[in-house]
Amino acid sequence: MDKAKVVIIGSGPAGYTAGIYAARANLEPVIYEGFYSGPSGGQLMTTTDVENYPGFPEGITGPALMDNFRKQAHRFGSILLQDDVVSLDLSKHPFIIKGKKNTHEALSVIISTGATAKRLDIPGTRDGEFWQKGVTACAVCDGAMPIFRGKPLYVIGGGDSAIEEALFLTKYSNQVFLVHRRDALRASKIMQERALNHPILKVLWNSVITEVTGDKVVRSVTITDVKTGEKKSHEAAGVFFAVGHTPNTTFLNGQIDLFETGYIKVVPGTSKTNVPLVFAAGDAQDHVYRQAVTAAGSGCMAAIEAERELAARGLVL
Ligand SMILES: Cc1cc2nc3c(=O)[nH]c(=O)nc-3n(C[C@H](O)[C@H](O)[C@H](O)COP(=O)(O)OP(=O)(O)OC[C@H]3O[C@@H](n4cnc5c(N)ncnc54)[C@H](O)[C@@H]3O)c2cc1C
Repeated sequence: MDKAKVVIIGSGPAGYTAGIYAARANLEPVIYEGFYSGPSGGQLMTTTDVENYPGFPEGITGPALMDNFRKQAHRFGSILLQDDVVSLDLSKHPFIIKGKKNTHEALSVIISTGATAKRLDIPGTRDGEFWQKGVTACAVCDGAMPIFRGKPLYVIGGGDSAIEEALFLTKYSNQVFLVHRRDALRASKIMQERALNHPILKVLWNSVITEVTGDKVVRSVTITDVKTGEKKSHEAAGVFFAVGHTPNTTFLNGQIDLFETGYIKVVPGTSKTNVPLVFAAGDAQDHVYRQAVTAAGSGCMAAIEAERELAARGLVL
């Protein structure tokens, strides 16, 4: 079995940043980049332009940005494995990390497996249709794009995050519709009030989007009234899924504390989990910001904390 001072699980902005910092601290990190769990590089591999990552005033494509992250982690000596972690044993130290192809005995572990934005299977929204051509799952990431400006936008959902996304879009759009399949929102009272009182935000009750159409980009949505079955086509430039995220944490099998929603619990302001020498970074522990820059920042924190904790325990020099 191979030995490692630090095993990093996941290859998004959090995992590669942890790799850069851990490698520069001579910890020779091993990064399980994932393979069947998704492309190495994480969620940004599925997007086109990233316009809010600092350091790129003209923007950069998601794949190009993640290729830079990967090269930088590799340049300082991170060992990159195209492998998925299927299980880990945190009950004794050193920890055992089992991938599909590799096994490691690790002095510390950084979990940065990200989260997956939930999408509904609506004709026109799938990969190869209008996904990323007007259909997206992140208003903060994509809302400012020129294709959405001054145009009618549709947000699907009914919780606090859906309202936050819809309110954010009111900065750019001339009319934002929150499409909700029920006759009441799940969101907190204060968020509901903000939504219902907003001059250009309208809730479409008992409604679902049943089709998205367009040419090169989204041009219209079909809204179906779930009570009457009536269908109407409306002009649209954007459709934003806001139906939640699934953190990629099931493989942890209850060995570290999670919130009910599956997000990893960390000691506030740190990357420390309830298990000493196990750290968490990025979207797997962040249900609030879910941005590349915050994921990268928390990856840096995890590597620094791993190094300090290993040194404090005399496990590395
Ligand atoms: C379409 C889209 C557009 C976005 N646009 C922007 C934007 O413009 N700006 C912005 O700041 N943010 C954007 N985001 C959000 C941003 O992508 C995430 O906040 C960020 O990628 C989170 O980084 P992460 O490292 O935590 O996880 P992720 O990027 O999710 O990466 C996690 C990685 O872990 C791997 N993995 C999972 N399970 C395992 C396992 N068991 N073993 C090994 N590996 C595993 C996955 O394959 C994946 O590669 C966007 C998200 C999406 C979906």
